[in-house]
Amino acid sequence: MITVNSNYAKLQASYLFSDIARRVKAFADANPAANIIRLGIGDVTEPLPPACVAAMQTAVGEMAVGQSFRGYGPEQGYDFLCEAIARNDFQARGCEIAADEIFVSDGAKCDTANIQELFSQDIRIAVPDPVYPVYVDTNVMAGRTGVFRNGRYEGLVYLDSTAANGFVPDLPTEPVDVIYLCFPNNPTGATATHAQLKAWVDYARAHKALILFDAAYEAFIRDPALPHSIYEIEGAREVAIEFRSFSKTAGFTGTRCAFTVVPKSLQAYAADGSAVALHALWNRRHTTKFNGVSYPVQRAAEAVYSAAGQVQVKGLIDGYLGNARIIRESLQQRGFATVGGDNSPYIWLNTGGDSWEFFDRLLQEAQVVTTPGSGFGRCGAGYIRISAFNSREKVEEAMERLAKVL
Ligand code: PLP
Repeated sequence: MITVNSNYAKLQASYLFSDIARRVKAFADANPAANIIRLGIGDVTEPLPPACVAAMQTAVGEMAVGQSFRGYGPEQGYDFLCEAIARNDFQARGCEIAADEIFVSDGAKCDTANIQELFSQDIRIAVPDPVYPVYVDTNVMAGRTGVFRNGRYEGLVYLDSTAANGFVPDLPTEPVDVIYLCFPNNPTGATATHAQLKAWVDYARAHKALILFDAAYEAFIRDPALPHSIYEIEGAREVAIEFRSFSKTAGFTGTRCAFTVVPKSLQAYAADGSAVALHALWNRRHTTKFNGVSYPVQRAAEAVYSAAGQVQVKGLIDGYLGNARIIRESLQQRGFATVGGDNSPYIWLNTGGDSWEFFDRLLQEAQVVTTPGSGFGRCGAGYIRISAFNSREKVEEAMERLAKVL
């Protein structure tokens, strides 16, 4: 008899996006002429930067010729990409990160999901609320939680992100071993200052804890005072893993390329208390379970760091940030409290009522699709997330419609 992993039975079916799809479909069926504008998605809408396309095309050409054909590459990523990442994303910002501390992968989703398998079953895990659901669900699958009750899994420590703390969670009041943080945040769009991240790094150092820092939206940071990487904080090399992605930076959601930084100085502990290097452990996992990102895609990612690539990527993100500003200002003019949208593509709006009621109202009255905040956790109740990933034209039209109904 094949028995299944009973932890999967604890998972809450992800009603959020299927519920949204069902409600949008019902509305579209009843109103076939309606021109629906989708500001609910977390997927990019603009094409790849030309520098990335050209690099990918050249690499495809190399693969077509015997002399330059490449088979399996290094599982951790080609040197040309790891070196470009280490130099541009870290060393240029004063962070002491070397190329062999970078692990190239096919997504920050997979990496943030897989990282937990390095840790023992009984560690105490802290997750923000609201949260990118991958951090929670993968720990549920691994059996690190109890059942789901009153909107939360037993056994997890939830870090409330609310208006009261500026959507940057306070340090936990109970002991935790692993802490997931995400800045700029999905779904709130909030960012963390140097001082706020320092408090977390200091906490982790004092408690032998580990920070899993998801910086998938780093490219949206425009405020020069904000840190782009956790490694800008002194001591972070001893306590933090950082996840990055080309998905939102350069429109790679369908192309797939990301990376995880595991410093060699990062230690965890064996059952007998002896130190274990997490770099060696992640290297073992990565090389056992992953066979590398394709050569053309890594060449395309490398082109992000070329002079032309940098200009094009900045233009791409500036476009989305321009959308975010239009959304943010138009909602604030209508008297709504918002966070995000200045250094992130998401605007988190306090609806003043129920998330789903507000979602329905915007769909029915303005034909605009958003994402109810309650789907991201208990602290998301009363909020909706609006995404800036769409064309300028559609964003402007959506805001004109909202101005008429709000
Ligand atoms: N981390 C966060 C916070 C995200 O919002 C997303 C995608 O929406 C990801 C990671 C996944 O990124 P990737 O496309 O690299 O898997």
